[in-house]
Amino acid sequence: MSRVLIIGAGGVGRVVVHKCAQLPEVFSDICLASRTRSKCDQIAGELKRPIRTAAVDADRVPEVTALIRDFKPDVLINVALPYQDLTLMDACLETGVDYVDTANYEPTDTAKFEYKWQWAYQDRFRQAGLMALLGSGFDPGVTNVYCAYAQKHLFDEIEFVDILDCNGGDHGYPFATNFNPEINIREVTARGRFWEAGEWKETDPLSVHQDFDFPGVGERRAYLMYHEELESLCRNLRGLKRIRFWMTFGESYLTHLRVLENVGMTRIDPVEYEGHQVIPLQFLKKLLPDPASLGPRTKGKTSIGCLLEGVKDGQRKRVFIFNVCDHQECFKETGAQAVSYTTGVPAMIGAKQVVTGAWKQAGVFNMEQLDPDPFMADLNRYGLPWEVQER
Ligand code: NDP
Repeated sequence: MSRVLIIGAGGVGRVVVHKCAQLPEVFSDICLASRTRSKCDQIAGELKRPIRTAAVDADRVPEVTALIRDFKPDVLINVALPYQDLTLMDACLETGVDYVDTANYEPTDTAKFEYKWQWAYQDRFRQAGLMALLGSGFDPGVTNVYCAYAQKHLFDEIEFVDILDCNGGDHGYPFATNFNPEINIREVTARGRFWEAGEWKETDPLSVHQDFDFPGVGERRAYLMYHEELESLCRNLRGLKRIRFWMTFGESYLTHLRVLENVGMTRIDPVEYEGHQVIPLQFLKKLLPDPASLGPRTKGKTSIGCLLEGVKDGQRKRVFIFNVCDHQECFKETGAQAVSYTTGVPAMIGAKQVVTGAWKQAGVFNMEQLDPDPFMADLNRYGLPWEVQER
């Protein structure tokens, strides 16, 4: 029995709330708080059991600590935006609450995500006897746990990892992003980066691609990108020689993105317009479909996994560990499409490992540093079944 405070009532927040509400024996009391309270109330109205809702500005530590002191949660799940990671970690430290998130901190004025800001909290969380679980979404999150599972059960040494993320769904819009457009476009327009032989190597944005046969979807073109789990996995996998991340994009998405970039609409520096300071990417976010509204329109499947190559008992082997998730099934269950679902379910499962004690330790942790077995079992139990294919 535990009390959970969920911050952020977007697409992912909706799924976390629905999934926590389905487990009253673990999450006995739920509070959903976000910038816009009406969004929390709308989600609360869809549930079979009552939950509390609140308005909070997660950029303001005193507002969050006041809410925590009032609701007294055991764990806080941060599914607002990565900009709020540090203020929410500060609030957790001040009030003695465990912390879980799905995306690593990035400052608003630089499109750069790195773990250094959150890893810097290690000593403070350890001394306070609290846990911060970083990146408990799908990627990062489940992909890290797949690697930990492979390291524990399938390989003596994992030499090569390719994380492959395919959204084979179609929402019928010429251009829309499946999660927060600002965060999504910042990520996709960044330079590619991968780790090989102990060094980081850079590529021009979306300049390297390969075609891959995704289970449940078929062959799709995947583009090399930088993604945050590479930063922790390259430290925590034994014998690793190379790790890369790939994501699929359709032609229409890429063409729109190219045009938007060329005309300056993806810029994140302020531009003066008729006496106002406007950040083009934030204005673009206002114009694009809200990812939360894609649920009813999106058909098809996501297929995300880790292709791992290495050695077991002197033999070389190559396996793909993956999940296939259906957009319409996710919508039926939670009112959200599969990108939100595949992020929200692991956030609930991560919080469950913390509050039940299965993972609870003092300090700041990335997912692959913990025992993968209870998390992998829960993926099968709570809606994200996985398979291992020899390739
Ligand atoms: P949305 O934009 O749909 O939702 C974000 C929510 O946070 C909104 O309800 C927003 O409020 C709220 N919010 C934003 N700023 C504040 C603030 N200062 N105080 C309180 N609430 C705030 O995003 P998603 O649900 O798509 O994504 C949520 C998180 O999940 C993001 O961090 C994203 O990067 C991460 N993610 C992780 C993935 C993974 O696999 N690891 C994959 C996909 C997403 P309002 O409604 O008022 O704007």
